[in-house]
Amino acid sequence: MAVPARRTSKAKKAKRRTHYKLTVPGMSTCSNCGELKRSHHVCPACGQYNGKDVNAQEA
Ligand SMILES: [Zn+2]
Repeated sequence: MAVPARRTSKAKKAKRRTHYKLTVPGMSTCSNCGELKRSHHVCPACGQYNGKDVNAQEA
């Protein structure tokens, strides 16, 4: 149930937000090279997607 904003204390708000991760939304690290990449997109650094080399087929 929704609670008015002023009823939620600073401490309560801060404790809830400890679970928020410090990451850019829509970005993830590549499982192959660890480079920051857009999720659901081919890695621009190594050209891999889901563990497979995708750029080899394009060339
Ligand atoms: Zn990569």
